[in-house]
Amino acid sequence: MNYIDGFRNPEVAAQFVRMIAEQGRALAGQGRRVRIMEVCGSHTMAIGRYGIRQLLPENVELISGPGCPVCVTDPGYIDTAIALAGKGAILATFGDMIRVPGSDSDLTACRSGGGDVRVCYSPSAAVELARAHPEREVVFLAIGFETTIAPVVSIVEEALRAGVRNVSLLTAFKLVPPALHALLADKEIKIDAFLCPAHVSAIIGSRAYEPFAAAYRVPCVIAGFEPLDILYGVHGILGQALKNEARVENQYARVVRPEGNPKAQARIARYLEPVDASWRGIGVIPSSGLGLRTEFAAYDAERKFGLPVRPGRQHAGCRCGDVIKGKLRPTACALFAKVCNPDQPVGPCMVSAEGTCAAYFKYTLPEEKRGGGK
Ligand code: SF4
Repeated sequence: MNYIDGFRNPEVAAQFVRMIAEQGRALAGQGRRVRIMEVCGSHTMAIGRYGIRQLLPENVELISGPGCPVCVTDPGYIDTAIALAGKGAILATFGDMIRVPGSDSDLTACRSGGGDVRVCYSPSAAVELARAHPEREVVFLAIGFETTIAPVVSIVEEALRAGVRNVSLLTAFKLVPPALHALLADKEIKIDAFLCPAHVSAIIGSRAYEPFAAAYRVPCVIAGFEPLDILYGVHGILGQALKNEARVENQYARVVRPEGNPKAQARIARYLEPVDASWRGIGVIPSSGLGLRTEFAAYDAERKFGLPVRPGRQHAGCRCGDVIKGKLRPTACALFAKVCNPDQPVGPCMVSAEGTCAAYFKYTLPEEKRGGGK
């Protein structure tokens, strides 16, 4: 058995399912339901792919939160990117941004209309593009959670080292802990525990969740992406619930340390500072984003072009905002699989490979109902 197969062992999984069923019965005996929010798009996909939701007792619910950076990006960000292309900039982006809707259009339409939009596979490609086109400005669409921030901000480091001035970042970096605070403070959303993200936790460390566990009395369990990781995580959460505990438990200790990754944290702090950030569906959360420090303003596309990102409009029928907050299952959206599918997405939660609507479409719909959608 190889390393990965060890985390997919069906007999061990069956044992976990039995233990979780027992925990569910014990909680039901106390008249309790447990709503566990995962805040990582890779968890959302793994839960769908391995059918984990269907393996849990009726009174244990997995709900998806704001775990996909593309999905939480405000439509106004896309509007500003399109405006930058209109000013002649080359837009460099990871592929998952290409079909994310802005208020009225997206980058695919922008490209069809003559905008220079290029898909990159690494941040350093933006600096290479800038060197290849010294007469043009290259703007990198810099979105992401803590996991991707350090590698993306290396564009500035690399540009400074090489003396490249015609590259800049349109930043919409987001931080997970402030979003968890905002969700817990919203009385309309019932969250009993967090299945904490794996990759983000590798950067920020398990200690970053201690304030939530203590202040809001919610168990926070960090888990990996394999099916046994997730089942083990759910088992840990239910174990805490039964004992009325609320602790941070790091079940992904093979990757995540209490202090996180100090090297990545130092690089982030060197170039970026906290800013208020607008999250699609949630609104502005104080100090929940990171923007370039003033000393690096020459690499900040908003300041360089005088084009600040302003809140945009989402499609009237799209419920991505409620999906992102865990208030609505995608299948309860009137457009789900009727008008909105991965081939013709109406909202970002259906566009992104890590979006909740895309996960439900791919893993809960029978083949014949998926039609052309993948
Ligand atoms: S199914 Fe489509 S329209 Fe509905 S919330 Fe999801 S992305 Fe938006």
